[in-house]
Amino acid sequence: MRFLILILIIGGIVWYFFLRKSPKKPKNNHEAELMLECCECGTYVSSKEAISYNDKYFCSKKCLLKNKKG
Ligand SMILES: [Zn+2]
Repeated sequence: MRFLILILIIGGIVWYFFLRKSPKKPKNNHEAELMLECCECGTYVSSKEAISYNDKYFCSKKCLLKNKKG
């Protein structure tokens, strides 16, 4: 019976580490799918490529500079 308890403890440790690792992946995928509208030209860009400035999002540095000037 000691052997059975040992398997349960090892299984629990493996399950614990597997559960800790798994929530990271869906979060990254969700961020990649998020699309943001450029405040200057209205082009939709992914949150990874978008440039955020003063709670506004821009598709490129060009649009950011345009918005700052205008
Ligand atoms: Zn733009």
